[in-house]
Amino acid sequence: MPKSTTSRKRYQDFLEKFRRNEIGHEPHEEEEALGQQPPPGATTDTFADKTAKQQRRRQYLRLYVRELYPHAPAVLLLTVLALLIASLELAQPLFFRYIVDDVLLKEALPLGERLRALNVVGGLALIVVIVSQILGIYKNYHQHLLNVKVILTLRRALFDRMLRLPLEKLYHMKTGGIIARLTDDVNTTTGLLEMAVISPGVAAVRLIIALAVLFVLNWQLALTAVSIIPPITLISFIAARRIRPIYRQVRNEVSTVDGRVGEAFEGIRAVRAFQGELREEHEFSLGHHLITRMKMFARKRELVLWSSWGFIMAVISLVIFWVGGYLYLQGRATIGDITAFQVYTMMLLGPVWQIVNSFSELQRSLAAMERVFDVLQTPEDKPDAPTAVVAPPEVDQIEFRQVGFEYETGRPVISDFQLTVPGGSVIALVGKSGAGKTTITDLIARFYDPTQGQILLNGIDLRQIRLASYRKLLGVVQQEVFLFDGTVRDNIAYAQRHATEEQIIDAAKRANAHEFIEKLPQGYETIIGERGVKLSGGQRQRMSIARALLADPKILILDEATSNLDTESEQLIQASLAELLKNRTTFMIAHRLSTIAHADKIVVMDRGRIVEIGNHEELLASGGVYAEMVARQQSAMIGLDAENYCPAVPD
Ligand code: ADP
Repeated sequence: MPKSTTSRKRYQDFLEKFRRNEIGHEPHEEEEALGQQPPPGATTDTFADKTAKQQRRRQYLRLYVRELYPHAPAVLLLTVLALLIASLELAQPLFFRYIVDDVLLKEALPLGERLRALNVVGGLALIVVIVSQILGIYKNYHQHLLNVKVILTLRRALFDRMLRLPLEKLYHMKTGGIIARLTDDVNTTTGLLEMAVISPGVAAVRLIIALAVLFVLNWQLALTAVSIIPPITLISFIAARRIRPIYRQVRNEVSTVDGRVGEAFEGIRAVRAFQGELREEHEFSLGHHLITRMKMFARKRELVLWSSWGFIMAVISLVIFWVGGYLYLQGRATIGDITAFQVYTMMLLGPVWQIVNSFSELQRSLAAMERVFDVLQTPEDKPDAPTAVVAPPEVDQIEFRQVGFEYETGRPVISDFQLTVPGGSVIALVGKSGAGKTTITDLIARFYDPTQGQILLNGIDLRQIRLASYRKLLGVVQQEVFLFDGTVRDNIAYAQRHATEEQIIDAAKRANAHEFIEKLPQGYETIIGERGVKLSGGQRQRMSIARALLADPKILILDEATSNLDTESEQLIQASLAELLKNRTTFMIAHRLSTIAHADKIVVMDRGRIVEIGNHEELLASGGVYAEMVARQQSAMIGLDAENYCPAVPD
């Protein structure tokens, strides 16, 4: 594929979108609002939809304002300061006017007096300038302080809620969306206060005061000055609506390209192994081609816009002198008026720009606010029922009563799952990939609740048990061992942060991990994980077993690794697993015959249903699916060192 064609094609797509005024949308704007998905078949633009959206927006605005309540004094202070600074600034041209008309041009007065007056007025003007600058610094500092406070509150609330959201909502948001919400969206939301309330409000007041002063000073000159407003409004509007979105789009493109760069280097082995360098290179330069073109496109328009801005400024300055000159010659204006007007006209620019700008900022901030509050308003995952009880301390029995589950309505993944598990027994879940084994363990962990039937612990429905107390009973050892950046000790003690040194070492010993940990550069203090020492697959597993041993759960969920470990690790892991399973009710997704054979009960699943239940011997004797599976595995073992080789049951 020739490079330029695709790059040009993408650029043309961009131009087309620009023409249709569709660019610069937020990266995740197209995402449905969380938990507010329209019912299937509903078009997004129906009237009812729009009113619901407006209602939601209003409700969020109220919530946002409530967030600001504690900061009301600061908001008030900022507004007062802004107005004070504006009045001081607006007073400055009056000093110039006084100096010109009443000092410089008052030739009748004696020179000494004029000099003194010049110094006094000049000094006063200087004081006004200094005071307004100092107030400006003070205001900016407090503005920033308010912003960071609001950002901190919102961000903490958001993070807190995100940690507790139902899993499917989190999957829906995906990592990018989560980070974007926590960073950009929260920041932009805070802009709402500054950009939508304080700035345009103050700008409007400034504009009104400036115009009033102008008309009081000289209405003819005021009319001339006012003629600048329409063209600069237009220019501001174009800049805000048509040019800034391009830069926003450029930022989106840059983050896409950057994201891909990150991925390429994370997966550098895959890139090299599959010779993806050329393709990555191609994508990279394609992305940057597009970015460059877009930037130049924006730049061209900007240049035209800002040169017309400069042109208008130059012309208006000239026109004020010109018209002012006429009026002066006719005795209807003073030189001081003309001087003051030069400055005042420039002072009209800022407020006009700010007001126009705030409209588009408002839209953006509102959109960001909606995304933030969508999350904050999403109910937490499985809040406890008011009648919920504390989990029993021991497991006597876990019963699955006609359990059914579907991730998407109408597509059952588990059906009629009926099983009684006595406390302390080991259940092996076996079956092809997609049979529903992981889903069953997720139901036990209450990551999801059954959509049909019940799971009962000692006869109590899990939904009637306080989630936090239930999760204390649970331990999970997963195939993908989750080790975070930190020391070996912290990783083992993740679930038991207050564990003593002896407890940690004891757990590590029982998991057969102590020996290799001792050999690490700093022993238990060695940093592992992303930026630390890399552990082998077997070592990671034993670490996670040590973690589970320390947590000492009553119910254990075990997802056995399928990766082929070396014989020694294999034996060590088998031994530490045996230690781990003691006195616990265990559900394991097992692949190795050696582990499965020791289970008290083997549950063979297919397409969400139980097809066989029994222990190893019983199932072998019955000659069903399990027996077939075992036979297949044993035939695969012929010729291998059957003593040590524990093949995985094929999924
Ligand atoms: P196993 O662990 O036996 O391989 P799973 O429990 O992972 O099976 O999956 C059972 C079925 O549920 C599969 O068909 C899978 O595609 C589907 N499934 C798993 N997770 C989800 C999900 N989050 N959303 C929708 N379907 C899912």
